[in-house]
Amino acid sequence: MRIVLLGAPGAGKGTQAEALAAYWKIVHISTGDLFRYHRDHGTALGIMANEFMAQGQLVPDGVTQAMVEERIGQADAGNGFVLDGFPRTLPQGQALAAMLQARHEKLDAALYIEVPESVLMDRLVGRRICPECKANYHVAFHPPRVAGVCDQCGAVLVQRDDDLPQTVQTRLAVYKEQTAPLIAFYQGVGLLRTINGNQSPSEVTLAAVAALGGTHD
Ligand code: ADP
Ligand code: ADP
Ligand code: ZN
Repeated sequence: MRIVLLGAPGAGKGTQAEALAAYWKIVHISTGDLFRYHRDHGTALGIMANEFMAQGQLVPDGVTQAMVEERIGQADAGNGFVLDGFPRTLPQGQALAAMLQARHEKLDAALYIEVPESVLMDRLVGRRICPECKANYHVAFHPPRVAGVCDQCGAVLVQRDDDLPQTVQTRLAVYKEQTAPLIAFYQGVGLLRTINGNQSPSEVTLAAVAALGGTHD
């Protein structure tokens, strides 16, 4: 199973990618997590990428595509993957198609998680993440058992610096301009599956599994 997730920042891609990866026993590949890993480890790629991330802008296509190509070539991605946050531009969508073709692999679906713009800001400014295990929370919609502490590993939760309101505005504008055209791109190649992301996370997961042809048990 090879899936890409489409949707605005805050649509629930990371949340659903976790669930779908567990359901199909495939890897969850988040380009945002990969860039944050590089940034936190001070690699050359991470230092460069952070100049764009901190502004709410996209990291240039060339380096992003190279990072993804390397990742999907690793052994654990052989059974399939959920790509979360890639592609984010039309050139990235074309590059992914070429990468998969060269590997004699194909994409099964592009799942578009549709959410009204009005709910995105609240979701993003309330998001908290675990810096250790990358678990994802929300102060109101998905709070940890103990405020500010990760349920899974006990680390102190943090807010992403790009989840502050000013940067969120930029990211939403970048999404509309550069990423939303991928919806028509995947529609055109017959891979688009659209689900309603404005319901509880477990309801979204049910809709996603159904749209992707799985059966829930
Ligand atoms: P994305 O990866 O698309 O940016 P996330 O999965 O990180 O989105 O979700 C953004 C925030 O909204 C997180 O704090 C998450 O806990 C919360 N969230 C995710 N799905 C839902 C949902 N269906 N309803 C309410 N809040 C949600
Ligand atoms: P969200 O889903 O909340 O928008 P991500 O964690 O997916 O955030 O991405 C965080 C940041 O990492 C983006 O704002 C961008 O700077 C960078 N990034 C992630 N994926 C890509 C990509 N495919 N192309 C370019 N930049 C990316
Ligand atoms: Zn944790």
